[in-house]
Amino acid sequence: MSGPCPACPACGTPCRMRFRSRQGISGDCYGSRRLLLRNAHDAIFVCPSCGWGVVAPLPDQERLERRYRASRELAYLADAQPRRIMFARELDVVARLLSRPPQSLLDIGCSYGILLEEARARSIQAEGLELSDDAVGHCQEAGLSVRQGGVERLGDDDLYDVVFMWDVLEHLVEPVAVLSRVRKHMNAGAILTLVVPDRGSMAARLLGERWWSVCEPHLHYPTRRGIRYLLRLVGFSEVEVSTLPKIAHVSQLVRWIPGGALRRAVSRIVPGARVVTVDPRDQLLVRARAE
Ligand SMILES: [Zn+2]
Repeated sequence: MSGPCPACPACGTPCRMRFRSRQGISGDCYGSRRLLLRNAHDAIFVCPSCGWGVVAPLPDQERLERRYRASRELAYLADAQPRRIMFARELDVVARLLSRPPQSLLDIGCSYGILLEEARARSIQAEGLELSDDAVGHCQEAGLSVRQGGVERLGDDDLYDVVFMWDVLEHLVEPVAVLSRVRKHMNAGAILTLVVPDRGSMAARLLGERWWSVCEPHLHYPTRRGIRYLLRLVGFSEVEVSTLPKIAHVSQLVRWIPGGALRRAVSRIVPGARVVTVDPRDQLLVRARAE
């Protein structure tokens, strides 16, 4: 089943079929990924102009939301410390770009609220949007300001100095509409910080369907060129494009090893709590300024 060829969400060029849909390891993107194994995914089409990859047909929005509402990612909490380090560094960069510490922050897809806690510790007025019942409950118990849902939950008066959208865009049915809406909730000169998988990266091009970011929950596979085009289209000027190194516990990385026996053997040898930095240079970190 291939379906009709979709138009590129970023530049509008008709896309071409690249990978047919396949069965395989399924589940949420966080838990299902294993190095060099092929995950389940739907048919992926690629833009011949900017390289953006898009799933077609896209799933039904309501069904997708129900799925995310029911999701729990307990591993996310177990990895809180490396995430805290990444968020702290990014908040420092944002303060530099704004030439002052941000006063208000929105985290779209805030999960269990690690960034919100980090922002609160810096006296930033921080709010989150999240779908998962479990994660929203956790955040609210921790006294964090989180609304359940997407950007449609924001009111006309909700304006922010910085918006985080890390590991979110690739999960959206309509990334252009959402980014455009996000722009309307940013003060002039505010900073958007975005993390997305890079389909144009060396890892993605070499590994094809075996690239670890190819998995069922991902509906979009952006590229540097596509993201730049899209951000300009919805009212951002580009500030910086780099890659996000993965700061992780060894135990987090070990989960990616295919084969239970090998995984257990490595776990016995290497201390799981050690924090290491690796950068396969396949996750784009984009900082853009609201014009
Ligand atoms: Zn394109």
